[in-house]
Amino acid sequence: MAYPKRRLKPGECAYCVGKGYFQLLLGGSETCDHCHGSGKHYQKH
Ligand SMILES: [Zn+2]
Repeated sequence: MAYPKRRLKPGECAYCVGKGYFQLLLGGSETCDHCHGSGKHYQKH
């Protein structure tokens, strides 16, 4: 079970830990679907 090692700041996306992308094990990266690459926590207004 993966758990973010970095501590999240308020407003950061919990899925990519504020980076906006996932680091793939095989190399490269994939844009985070949850924040659409912004790295910020998605909030509905
Ligand atoms: Zn994200």
